[in-house]
Amino acid sequence: MTANLKESGAQLLEIQDIDTQRRVLQDRIDALPQKRTVAALRAKKQEGGMRIAQIQARIAEEAQKSETASAALASLDAKIAAEQRKIDAATDHREVATLTRELENLARRKDALESESLGHLQQLEDLELLRIDTEEKVASLSAREQTEIAAWREQTGRLHAELADLDAQRAQVAARLPEDLRARYEALAAEKGGVVVARFVNGRCLACSLTPPTARRAEIESSDTIEQCPQCRRLLVLED
Ligand SMILES: [Zn+2]
Repeated sequence: MTANLKESGAQLLEIQDIDTQRRVLQDRIDALPQKRTVAALRAKKQEGGMRIAQIQARIAEEAQKSETASAALASLDAKIAAEQRKIDAATDHREVATLTRELENLARRKDALESESLGHLQQLEDLELLRIDTEEKVASLSAREQTEIAAWREQTGRLHAELADLDAQRAQVAARLPEDLRARYEALAAEKGGVVVARFVNGRCLACSLTPPTARRAEIESSDTIEQCPQCRRLLVLED
């Protein structure tokens, strides 16, 4: 085994070690509880926002009905006043009786309309309270979200700084590694993920425990490049 090959092997193991540390850090970042909490809070906020939109639509609908009822009441009031004037002007008692019946009908319609109108106003008030309540809930969800985000930033900031250190270390080692070997490592790492470099000790791949046949073992051990395990395809770093 040439000195260059030995050095490359050491560098491959070093990169792998750095990558393992990076994965551990990334897992710690991913496992931070705030991310899930924030996602849950955002989902609730979105739900709240949708509820507010629904309430507002109902408010608009109820306001429209209330307006219609008010207009109907106003026109009814005008009719009642006109009817009253006719009664005041009437001289015939039968005409007065007919007009009075009409006036009574109008008065009943007015009662019904008034209670309908009050119902709309009560609905509007209830909906407004519901809207305010829901908006307050959404606002408190937002406040909690901000707190969680701040805590998450603080913790990930620290972990990301460690990641950046590892990235710098990795770049240094990778720069020293022959280009083709680096490309093989990256391709395998992308394909397999996890551990892609294995120690080859006493004719055995320590990753998958394969002991290749003698001829293949001799090829691996005398090769002037980094060979791959015939079984697990990991890059084999020879060790005495
Ligand atoms: Zn293997």
